[in-house]
Amino acid sequence: MRKPLLYLAGLLLSLQSLAQLQSPTQFFGFAPGEQMVPTHRLYQYAVHVSQQVPAKVKLMSYGQTFEKRPLMMVVVSSEENIKNLDQIRTDNLKSIGLMSGQPSSKIRPAIVWMSYNVHGNEATNSAAFPKVLHELLAGGAVADKILKNTVVVLAPCLNPDGHDRYVNWYNQKIGASPNANTSAWEHNEPWPGGRWNHYLFDPNRDWAWQTQEIMQQLVATFQQWMPQVHADFHEMGPNSPYYFAPSAKPYHEDITPWQREMQEVVGTYNKRYFDRNNWLYYTRERFDLFYPSYGDTWPTYNGAIAMTYEQGGGGIAGLAYERADEGDTLRLTHRVAHVAAASIATIEAIADRSGKVVEEFVKFYDRNQNNPIGAFKSYVVKTVGDEGRVKALKELLDKNQIRYGYANDSRALTGFNYLTQKDEAFKTEAGDLVISAYQPKSNLLKILFEIKPMLEDSVTYDITSWCVPLAYGAKTYGVKERLTLSQQAPSSPQPAISGKPYAYMVPWKSAEDAKFLAAISKQKVRVRAAEKTFDMGGKTYAAGTLIITRAGNEGLGDAFDKIVQTEATNFGVTLNATESGAASKGSDFGSDYVYNLKATPRVGVIAGEGTSATNVGEVWHFFDQELKYPVTLIDPNSRFSAGIPFSKLDVLVVPAGFGTLIRENQFSALREWLRNGGRLILLESATGILADKEGFGLKNKKDDSKKSDKKGDEDSFKLFANRERESVSDESPGSIYKIKLDNTHPLAFGFPDHYFALVNNVYNYDFLKGGWNVGYLKSEKEGYVAGFTGKNVKDKLSNSLFLGVEEVGRGKIVYMANNPLFRGFWYNGKLLFSNAVFMLP
Ligand SMILES: [Zn+2]
Repeated sequence: MRKPLLYLAGLLLSLQSLAQLQSPTQFFGFAPGEQMVPTHRLYQYAVHVSQQVPAKVKLMSYGQTFEKRPLMMVVVSSEENIKNLDQIRTDNLKSIGLMSGQPSSKIRPAIVWMSYNVHGNEATNSAAFPKVLHELLAGGAVADKILKNTVVVLAPCLNPDGHDRYVNWYNQKIGASPNANTSAWEHNEPWPGGRWNHYLFDPNRDWAWQTQEIMQQLVATFQQWMPQVHADFHEMGPNSPYYFAPSAKPYHEDITPWQREMQEVVGTYNKRYFDRNNWLYYTRERFDLFYPSYGDTWPTYNGAIAMTYEQGGGGIAGLAYERADEGDTLRLTHRVAHVAAASIATIEAIADRSGKVVEEFVKFYDRNQNNPIGAFKSYVVKTVGDEGRVKALKELLDKNQIRYGYANDSRALTGFNYLTQKDEAFKTEAGDLVISAYQPKSNLLKILFEIKPMLEDSVTYDITSWCVPLAYGAKTYGVKERLTLSQQAPSSPQPAISGKPYAYMVPWKSAEDAKFLAAISKQKVRVRAAEKTFDMGGKTYAAGTLIITRAGNEGLGDAFDKIVQTEATNFGVTLNATESGAASKGSDFGSDYVYNLKATPRVGVIAGEGTSATNVGEVWHFFDQELKYPVTLIDPNSRFSAGIPFSKLDVLVVPAGFGTLIRENQFSALREWLRNGGRLILLESATGILADKEGFGLKNKKDDSKKSDKKGDEDSFKLFANRERESVSDESPGSIYKIKLDNTHPLAFGFPDHYFALVNNVYNYDFLKGGWNVGYLKSEKEGYVAGFTGKNVKDKLSNSLFLGVEEVGRGKIVYMANNPLFRGFWYNGKLLFSNAVFMLP
């Protein structure tokens, strides 16, 4: 028993510390939502709270953003739980097989993770964080129940770079009081907007792929906790009210009955809070659970109960915004109140059944490890000769904590070949990658690898196919039996190289080879490429093989071998050496068919107002972070811009856009530059810049007038109630097609005679006359692999151009109807794009 005096002192101390805990209004000097708060101020409040109530609050850093802002999370729970916090966390991981050992107890609180502001300009959510934190500590029956039964993780801002881009801009634009007039400049956020992270990616499309460092750090930390519940807070257009669970259809078929039930339960709690305040809301519409790389689906496919929340507002809404319904002004203070209520309602729903939430989570992982879903119990990825690609695939699996091993011998099997979509006999070889479905993450594995996700409704918010083996172009077999695997990684296949060879050869197969090429180009190594297949030293080398001869690189002296060998090791590419330039079959290395690649091409990318921010970001990030190759972003429409500096560029990439990306008065300069050897790469809608233009080859198909009349008739009698469904008839929201490739053209080097493309743009282009139709579809039906394609666009896909090259003088125009760098996750597209930049002669 404690001494009374000491007890009293302790009580006084805790009373005093409570007295010192300031509410957000006391701390900031204004009520939540009365001003926009930058991220560091949110953190200051978190620091204050964690210092005042250390027994119940733990502040943790989980990394930093590209712009060096800290990434923070705040854990709130009862004193008892905070004392045992690490045990609760590790017990959870042990109980689901993600950490070895036995949990010390079966009974533990549920971990509920609240993510605010993954989209930076949806600032309401971060603004609500101090209010939620304070309410959790304010006492009362609900708060006490929550702290006892749950460990709440509040992530105040998932995307601080985007959030501060928005908030800092906004705070500069307002006067003494906010202006609700929608024409006021504070409602007109400039390009690129705060939604994106530093590299202009949408972080809420990146949970599975983790191409962005804020998402790599977030998901790594998330997997250190594996919360049973994830709430992801967003905003939508300012004229909408509030959206919460249950989600809209389609649900992915593998969402469990328990997860579906909990969507309803959480919705019920939210309705109660909103009804009590007479606030408008809606459920079951618009936001679905399908594409696996969202903040709701990725945790769901990892067994969690996970939901998206959407407040009406967003970057356009500012502090006050006149809504379309007359007389109604939307204020940030209202928006913040909604988010705080939804947060507490959701945590309360879990606190009321935390035992069951934990139990069902463990059950989900038991099923994964002992009785996994899906037809395939193992996957075999053929590795020998394709090490670069498999290395990249393993990195993706590692990020998602999907375990793998290797085949230890040769075995005859039958499996579903993803690349042919047929059941075939094949043999494993020692060193092949083997992934077993009997593992904690098998549900996620099944979904990431599935070729045709079952779509119960075509009205979806996002892409409808994502099959990882096709995205990586990896020769993968789905096998119905459980295979044993070895943990012993195969030894490096690098052939031994001694002395000073005549030349090095690197087969051109994957983006790892492109990274290698970029690295040695930067160090002034001159590189050639074989235009045709050749044999040397008993091996056959495909077209596109990089040939790095000592001849032409004499200036580098001894550094030559060192650069080539070091970078080959760095990127895991297969380096072969030869003592002679004579091919036993095909062209010798001095032949015209072994051509010089342009030495360190100078690359520019059009960016700024009028371009698609994500498209720009995908190109920027690829050069800057993946190839680590210099790139110049050019804003030709900025006030002081002199236009596009053609004379300083060898390659110009034009991303998709909506405005005047190349001004009329620059067309003659463009033509001149092309004639002199410039290379223009047009992505998605930017292909339209030259379509039907005098002197260029790309033409839109002439419409068959009979057909369009018929469609007109149908359109006249379509039902109003079906308007949303009708609108998807014109879309291809990300489906997979097997595109025919002319792989004798350097744009398709490194590929077989086909390419699995993610198609989310459908244009109506004819085949090029007088140019090279490198990638095309003859028949939509034959090329279709997976995903949803609207009925009205199917026609357009037949006989359509996907990849074209037009020669203008010594220069070239590359047309890419779909951006192969989309979201940075379609691994095989990176090689295609690299071909356009580096490989064209
Ligand atoms: Zn959002």
